[in-house]
Amino acid sequence: MTKIDEEQLQIHRDLILQASGDGVYGLDCEGRTIFVNPAAERLTGYSSKEMVGKPQHMLIHHSHADGSEYPRLECPIYAAFTDGEVHQVTDEIFWRKDGSSFPVEYVSTPILDEGKIVGAVVSFRDITERKRAEDALLESEERYRKIVEATHEAIFLVRVDDGQMLDVNDEACKMLGFTRDVLMTKTAEDLHPHEMDVHQEVMESLLEAGKIKTDRLSCMASNGEQIPVRVSASIIQLKGTECILFIAQDMREYVQAEKQARKFQSDLHHVSRVSAMGEMASGMAHELNQPLTAVMNYVQACRRILDMGNDEQREKVSDYMEKAVAQAERAGKIISGLRKYVEKSEANRSFEELNVIVEEASKLALVDGAAEGVDFNIDLAEDLPSLNVDKIQIQQVVFNLVRNAIEALEPTPLKQITITTSRAENLVSVSVCDNGPGLDGKLVGKLFDSFVTTKPNGMGLGLSICQSIIEDHGGRICANRNADGGMTFKFTLPISAGDKKNYG
Ligand code: ADP
Repeated sequence: MTKIDEEQLQIHRDLILQASGDGVYGLDCEGRTIFVNPAAERLTGYSSKEMVGKPQHMLIHHSHADGSEYPRLECPIYAAFTDGEVHQVTDEIFWRKDGSSFPVEYVSTPILDEGKIVGAVVSFRDITERKRAEDALLESEERYRKIVEATHEAIFLVRVDDGQMLDVNDEACKMLGFTRDVLMTKTAEDLHPHEMDVHQEVMESLLEAGKIKTDRLSCMASNGEQIPVRVSASIIQLKGTECILFIAQDMREYVQAEKQARKFQSDLHHVSRVSAMGEMASGMAHELNQPLTAVMNYVQACRRILDMGNDEQREKVSDYMEKAVAQAERAGKIISGLRKYVEKSEANRSFEELNVIVEEASKLALVDGAAEGVDFNIDLAEDLPSLNVDKIQIQQVVFNLVRNAIEALEPTPLKQITITTSRAENLVSVSVCDNGPGLDGKLVGKLFDSFVTTKPNGMGLGLSICQSIIEDHGGRICANRNADGGMTFKFTLPISAGDKKNYG
């Protein structure tokens, strides 16, 4: 190369250094600055004059980001002199002349002259903007991860092509009892081995609609338990890959609560049957007491007549009659005991909120979809006192009245039922109002009698049971035709001195 060529090359190098957006400076073996390009001056705030000849480490690299000292011997820039290697660092800071700092990425390359290390050239870049973008990305990733982990639903991200799990949240692991690592090895199909056909159908409708909700799936947990789930699934695109986001709600508690509600309902029916038997026994007791009294009277008369016969006859008949009287008396006692038992049962009373009783009982009466198409309104008074009642029995009354109203509404096109609770002086009342056809004429005056019914399969005991329960609680029940059609059944319960919140 001629001298002119070399000069030309030097000019080119200088021009490149001048134009570079990255800061570049050279160091000798002692770490003193040999040259600085304009970008390095701009980025650090030091002029070339202020830097040349000075140890660069002391000017711009003396401390770590936390302010602690950065010993020169630990500095990778200087390491380039000792080990002859290129050192690249992406997470340090440089200090400006004004005492502020900026994050840098730098490369320190040893300068060799005839195989000997004579210094290093350092090229650096202010990465504030890149860091900010990275931090923002990390923050947004962290935010989404936190949302995903904080949700109460199990989340599964699955690839459409092969059903492979791409992500799951903690709730999914918890619900199924798998560690994240194990769950990540599963496919969507693996979670429904017992219902592949349902899984297939759900997937088909999902791929067609792009989004679905379903209660049809259950997931198999690690212990083999089949967990009923309510699933919302959507197809989403992630970096060109078609994925499904499954959000699954564990329905075990709901299913359990439903089971309990059904059991409660069957308990109510049971109470209803027990009460019906009680009613029958009560009716029988009433009816049987009279003939038994008559038997007693006749037998006693017989004995008196026989008293006048011969001695031998007299003795035998009299003995038998005595026994018959004793038996009849005993039967009477048993029956009256039974009647008392049926009519008075205070054992199960406790302080209860009437509004709660009414809400629960009406929910139960509507539970099996019987009230489909019925406009059902419930209007509860505030601040009702707690009442000392047998909760199940009062629930049974409300349940019976609502079921009767639903049944009465069968022929009515725009069905309406309104339940109201209210308070008046020392009474609380509950009324069940319907817009049905009203009372059948032949029931007038005997609506609350036992065995009175207009239904083909009715027993005609519901209302008489309601009446005995309400009267047993010291209340009253009545039925009235509404002015604009339908019936209102209303019962009252007294607020006794012992009832709580008994103010006003
Ligand atoms: P059951 O429901 O077995 O007939 P109930 O004692 O509960 O026994 O009812 C007796 C009768 O009272 C019913 O058959 C029905 O004719 C009448 N009834 C009850 N509730 C209503 C109502 N809301 N509207 C019209 N009639 C009713």
